[in-house]
Amino acid sequence: MAERAEKRVQGVLPSDFTYLKRINPRAKRVILRINHRDGLVVTVPKGLSKKDLDSILVEKTDWILAGLEVAARRKLEEIATPPPQLIKIPLFDQRITVDYDSWQIQKIAIDINDASHITVTHPDVESAIINQIITKWLVGWCTPHMNKLVREVAHKRGLEVAKVGVRLQKSLWGSCSANSNISMNLRTAFLAKELGLFVIDHELAHLTHHNHSADFYRLLEERQPEAKRLNAELKKAGATVPSWLS
Ligand SMILES: [Zn+2]
Repeated sequence: MAERAEKRVQGVLPSDFTYLKRINPRAKRVILRINHRDGLVVTVPKGLSKKDLDSILVEKTDWILAGLEVAARRKLEEIATPPPQLIKIPLFDQRITVDYDSWQIQKIAIDINDASHITVTHPDVESAIINQIITKWLVGWCTPHMNKLVREVAHKRGLEVAKVGVRLQKSLWGSCSANSNISMNLRTAFLAKELGLFVIDHELAHLTHHNHSADFYRLLEERQPEAKRLNAELKKAGATVPSWLS
């Protein structure tokens, strides 16, 4: 349960200070987290009064202000993330070197020199825009590779999948629909190979169990005996994915 609403607090915090409030019935206490995308995220137990929450926030003012400053710097860094010179795609054992050519053209163009070398010709634009175009190109590049790999693994498990798609997603590594379509996050291609393959097996296990029940995890562990370790590693793996993907 998440309530996405911007809330305001009175007190020592700046008047334009806002945060994202999430109500979690299972939360036992208020949890404060800060990240550069959402800023301050406050998870609260059900039924906590606004007054009680405000007093917690006011008490934590110093921590919040320091954290928001770090997050703002991180956000600026992300904006300034330079385009990649080398694209490493562990899941498909691929490395693509990228040359850049600045030219007075209208649109960014990507030329494929050979299987492991591309040239990006671009007008004078921010890095973020070049990163977006390369990311979009990579979605197209990865789609046939991902199709082949997912179907290979499915075949090994004696399974059939319908469609396999690739998208850039923020939170999920992959998903599996009720009609056996599998969607993979582009970011999985950039994970360590065993983690990428683990995500594929996770989604394939959803062909049998459309939930995260004990049966689901039993099946996944049959196919991936290291499932517990891999799951733990996957939780931290977001930081290993290149930040220019956007
Ligand atoms: Zn799942």
